[in-house]
Amino acid sequence: MMSLPGRPRSTFMDYFSYKNGSLYTEGVSLSALAGRHGTPAYVYSRAAIESRWRAYAQAFSGRDALVCYSVKANGNLAVLNLLAGLGSGFDIVSGGELERVLAAGGEPDKVVFSGVGKRVDEIGRALEVGIKCFNVESEPELLRLNEIAGRMPVTAPVSIRVNPDIDPDTHPYIATGLRENKFGVDYEQALGIYQLADSLDNIEVTGIDCHIGSQITSVEPFIDAVNKLLALLGDLEKTGITIRHIDIGGGLGISYADGTAPDIAGFARAVSGLVPERYGIILEPGRSIVGDAGLLLTRVEYLKANMEKHFAVVDASMNDLLRPSLYRAWHDIIPVAERSDGTETEYDIVGPVCETGDFLGLQRRLSLCPDDLLAVLSAGAYGFSMSSNYNSRPRSVELLVDGEDAHVIRERETVEQLMAGERIPGD
Ligand SMILES: *Cc1c(COP(=O)(O)O)cnc(C)c1O
Repeated sequence: MMSLPGRPRSTFMDYFSYKNGSLYTEGVSLSALAGRHGTPAYVYSRAAIESRWRAYAQAFSGRDALVCYSVKANGNLAVLNLLAGLGSGFDIVSGGELERVLAAGGEPDKVVFSGVGKRVDEIGRALEVGIKCFNVESEPELLRLNEIAGRMPVTAPVSIRVNPDIDPDTHPYIATGLRENKFGVDYEQALGIYQLADSLDNIEVTGIDCHIGSQITSVEPFIDAVNKLLALLGDLEKTGITIRHIDIGGGLGISYADGTAPDIAGFARAVSGLVPERYGIILEPGRSIVGDAGLLLTRVEYLKANMEKHFAVVDASMNDLLRPSLYRAWHDIIPVAERSDGTETEYDIVGPVCETGDFLGLQRRLSLCPDDLLAVLSAGAYGFSMSSNYNSRPRSVELLVDGEDAHVIRERETVEQLMAGERIPGD
């Protein structure tokens, strides 16, 4: 078994590796998978997902802690079912995600509901099934929640999502805890909103919440955020409001390039060290559980060159994996079959979609031939879940590898499915 070229990838290498010059996920050959299921294809390792979830659970063992996996990172029913089986809770941001969790066998009383735009029907459904907590992001949302709960009548468990005004040093589109962001309530206004919550008949204050951003690669911003929440908590308790849990959100980064991502154990030590034992801890990790556990398998359609550049046109595009186009995110791209002979050329790896921004990777040195298979690594989070049908491209198949077995966990979409809901007036 050979290690992957280039950079060290501690967790990745255990589940994705070359055998006799050919890339495998656990015990399954990716070229065999491409032959059977076509490309593009998302391929996830069950063992990799499980090991990352367990790393969180173990790191917080001995504490009253609940890991609420963030469904939006990868909401496939099989992934949710696997995590529910391990005892995971879930962080949702829509009614659709709630239905996914329930369909996958998740327990409603381990669900926390975040998001700035919760609709009346979404709130009603979450109250009906009895979720653990609403992470409330504004005063009007709090009043709406109280009113709906009053009609049912039930009591709604609530945390206020506080914006700690911390710069997590990540891409501006995924920084969420700065004063200018739309998320949460201002730190200075939180006390007043908590007092309002405490006065409402159908609201029960249970926790305090924050989520400062995503792909955060150092522990310091989390420490700063927790310290700010604890200071606020002290003020709350002086006014007689009791808090049972602290939800520190998600956001721990992974190592897409050679940079090192903070390890889960170190992160957990820092956080548990700060939070007094009498409080429960809720975590909402998404990317750090599934990101490294999946790759996007794609085939080279054409190699072309102009006066300036070489392009490898592959069959996956921004509609399959939006991160490079949206955030200029960097994903490692490696060949499925190692080529020892060929000379390397610098390619832009681009898709078929009619946008100049449609690329998976720029200036990559690879030795390629048409029909070669490539693996775009660390694509398990915000990959399929952000995919679209732009250019009328059916969404990719999703495969879950478990040892020697590969399961189709989502069939490749068909063009008929894309058009199914459309009507021509008069027909
Ligand atoms: C997206 C999101 C998460 C998960 O973030 P990751 O970076 O994937 O860990 C957690 N909580 C909330 C409220 C989110 O919006």
